[in-house]
Amino acid sequence: MFNAKAYSAASATSPLASTTIPRRDPTEQDVQIEILFCGICHSDLHQVRNEWSGIMPTVYPIVPGHEIVGRVTRVGSAVTKYKRGDLAAVGCMVDSDGTCPQCQAGLEQFCPNMTLTFNSPDKHLGGVTYGGYSDSVVVDERFVLRVPSNLNLAGVAPLLCAGITTYSPMRHWGVTKGKKVGVVGLGGLGHMGVKFAHALGAHVVVFTTSPNKKEDALRLGADEVAVSRNADEMKKHAGSFNFILDTISADHDINAYLNLLGRDGNLTLVGAPEKPFAVSAFGLLFGRRSLSGSIIGGIPETQEMLDFCGARNITADVEVIPIQRVNEAYERLLKSDVKYRFSIDMASLKSV
Ligand code: NAP
Ligand code: ZN
Repeated sequence: MFNAKAYSAASATSPLASTTIPRRDPTEQDVQIEILFCGICHSDLHQVRNEWSGIMPTVYPIVPGHEIVGRVTRVGSAVTKYKRGDLAAVGCMVDSDGTCPQCQAGLEQFCPNMTLTFNSPDKHLGGVTYGGYSDSVVVDERFVLRVPSNLNLAGVAPLLCAGITTYSPMRHWGVTKGKKVGVVGLGGLGHMGVKFAHALGAHVVVFTTSPNKKEDALRLGADEVAVSRNADEMKKHAGSFNFILDTISADHDINAYLNLLGRDGNLTLVGAPEKPFAVSAFGLLFGRRSLSGSIIGGIPETQEMLDFCGARNITADVEVIPIQRVNEAYERLLKSDVKYRFSIDMASLKSV
């Protein structure tokens, strides 16, 4: 075991603060990574504040962070895919049983024995796993991803959650040229959704509550932008979408978006507000529409997404911050004031 520097929260109402955590020495299959950048996902905030207490209560202290990119510093003797000095990335998962039908299908995110990067029982050290707001992490090589060498690393980190979470449902629901695709909410996930839908050739419409994001939406790849609080701008799109991705982090009316779907259209939720939705049956009955959810993506698809980004030069638009500004970043995230992902420069942890 060794000590790592990290930022943790002691309770649902405590700010994140500097701390030291234990990390295991790499086992034969493990890769040790010096973390260079870690993105700030709204899920970090939900869990730091125990907003998902009904489904996955937070164990304190919590070290969040699951958008990790860094450099390999040590590998176990049985590791074959990585060597010291390689770039490497880790997303929301660090382990799974590897044998269940979900794992066999490369859909480890649905494995009943999957271990999340933070706030999950830690099989090695006991307690819970600690995430990427830290200077290092030790992960089984099966859950380590290769990073294309041409991409900006601060902008790569968010691909590990915001990227795969938007790429995966778009691939699943057949987003291609000729499809009309809506992206609801222009935050970390939403802006990646726009980039992917555009790259896949779809006609992309962004729905935002923030009129001041209109120009950015177009720059990011949207063909049209609608301010969702403007009834006329919503009505214009009634019954016209093949697919809508809802990334909103807070309570909202999804019926307004179901009504924008065309025949056999699908609305996929990736946003995870705490409060259950009220869904009108008629919004689904007419047009044989469907409502579904999606969570991150499996390891093979995460690698596919990273390679896709490498080939097309896609990264997240990031505001790089030192870790000392993480609490302020959380407050700005709550005000939808981020363009469009905070990425923590972990070199700032050295001076703590
Ligand atoms: P984010 O950067 O904060 O973006 C959320 C966006 O939602 C905001 O920028 C804002 O966009 C919109 N929004 C916020 N409050 C709203 C409200 N009251 N009404 C309407 N729109 C509102 O968050 P994120 O990191 O993208 O995460 C979004 C959600 O996805 C979170 O709930 C997170 O936990 C979840 N998530 C799920 C997965 C998964 O695997 N399913 C993975 C990662 C994250 P506008 O300003 O454009 O309106
Ligand atoms: Zn996330």
